[in-house]
Amino acid sequence: MEIAQELVGERSADVVIVGGGYTGMWAAWHIKLVEPEASVVLIEADRCGFGPSGRNGGFCNVMWFSLPNMRERWGDMAALEVARAAEAAAVGIGEFCESEGVDAWCRRGGYLQVSTAAAQDTVLEKALDACRELGAEDAIQPLSSAQVAEHCASPVFRGGAFYPGAGTVQPARLALGLRERLRARGVEIYERSPVSKVAGSSTGVEAQVPGGVVRAQRAVLAVGAAAKSAGGPLHNRLSVASSHIVLTEPVPDLLEEIGWTGGECITDSRALINYFRTTPDGRIAFGWGGGRIAMGARLHGRTELDPEVVSFAAKQLWDYFPGLGGRALTHAWGGPIDASPTHLPLVLPLHGNRAFAAAGYTGNGVGPSHMVGRTLASLALDLRDEPSRLPFIDPSPSHVPPEPFQWLGAEAIRTGIMRKESAELAGRRPDPISSLLSRIPQLIGFHIGR
Ligand SMILES: Cc1cc2nc3c(=O)[nH]c(=O)nc-3n(C[C@H](O)[C@H](O)[C@H](O)COP(=O)(O)OP(=O)(O)OC[C@H]3O[C@@H](n4cnc5c(N)ncnc54)[C@H](O)[C@@H]3O)c2cc1C
Repeated sequence: MEIAQELVGERSADVVIVGGGYTGMWAAWHIKLVEPEASVVLIEADRCGFGPSGRNGGFCNVMWFSLPNMRERWGDMAALEVARAAEAAAVGIGEFCESEGVDAWCRRGGYLQVSTAAAQDTVLEKALDACRELGAEDAIQPLSSAQVAEHCASPVFRGGAFYPGAGTVQPARLALGLRERLRARGVEIYERSPVSKVAGSSTGVEAQVPGGVVRAQRAVLAVGAAAKSAGGPLHNRLSVASSHIVLTEPVPDLLEEIGWTGGECITDSRALINYFRTTPDGRIAFGWGGGRIAMGARLHGRTELDPEVVSFAAKQLWDYFPGLGGRALTHAWGGPIDASPTHLPLVLPLHGNRAFAAAGYTGNGVGPSHMVGRTLASLALDLRDEPSRLPFIDPSPSHVPPEPFQWLGAEAIRTGIMRKESAELAGRRPDPISSLLSRIPQLIGFHIGR
């Protein structure tokens, strides 16, 4: 697939979109669906799908596990609205692939959330209670340890919860397929064109790149973890960590032996989450979302690939699936995760409602980016409809502390949580300092984990 041309000179459009990850591309897609005549220019610093959108774990999750958190922040009705919109987004991604002929290996195998230590049981209970209390029993099924083992047997799994609405995709295939379908619909895409500034103007907004400018009525800023960069609108609303994945050689015999043949994507219920899935050729992709905190806006180096984090992910893979024995790992990679203090996505209006910035999926953007993209489309087209009123738009501010305090504090908390969770997994009592550190986020109103 050839790289699109760089942006040189002046262009104009109804909407300019900055960032060619899922969020920017779904926003463009929905704009073209709602208003086919609208002109859309999308500008990407590298190549569309180059960021986490092209190399994530491919969990296309719904947000029912976030229901307790969303209820607490937004109230019952608003939380339900978002959970339903996120479920519709997961369906929408499957329908897009089907109707547009994009072979992104979509599989609706459901999501299995397991507990691997007594301390994690309450996480599942909260999600089950919230769904039951709000009349969404169909969204989640409680599973005993024996029922969990029927989906996938591991010596560390306890009970679990099954979310039938979720599925998996092949992330790069989805990103590249979406890019091609956008071009076919007339979206002008420019790659290798880093936007240096987005400014309000008397008639709208201007997005500047080194060799040119796009003038538009409205702008969508969807740059993922780069939104943390100094001076950006979201810099004090996000912290950035990393997530890393290791991939085994094909092990279909082992998958058969442990009964993991239904395509379920699985996580444990730790705050520093382990997530794992199978691939059509019988591999296990095993990820860990507990990578180091990035200092400020530094997104390179260890945020992209951290050998220590890779080793830790591999160790946990062997612990969870000891039957892997001496089977080989063939690939490992990572990328930045932009985390909001609430662990929920957010959309911020800027420049007097002429621009809208979105980020903060906290490692859970594959499904929700379709929902947020729909919201951004409504906002960019100035529609007053349901997606333009969802509660993650301009939520009450909750900020991360300035650097270097944010990095120092977040690294200390991360270390505390790691030590506490390792002790819990080993059936030991966590030391008091680690327990205290891991309680700090809750005490200051931050959410960690599912
Ligand atoms: C290893 C890993 C595993 C993950 N696994 C999962 C998973 O299984 N399920 C899940 O739901 N989520 C997962 N995530 C998170 C998920 O990938 C993200 O939430 C999602 O891709 C966010 O999409 P986005 O479009 O907002 O951001 P991105 O994918 O980061 O896209 C932003 C784009 O903006 C571009 N950009 C940045 N700055 C500029 C600029 N100045 N000018 C122009 N363009 C710019 C970037 O190059 C990039 O292409 C994972 C993330 C990682 C790193």
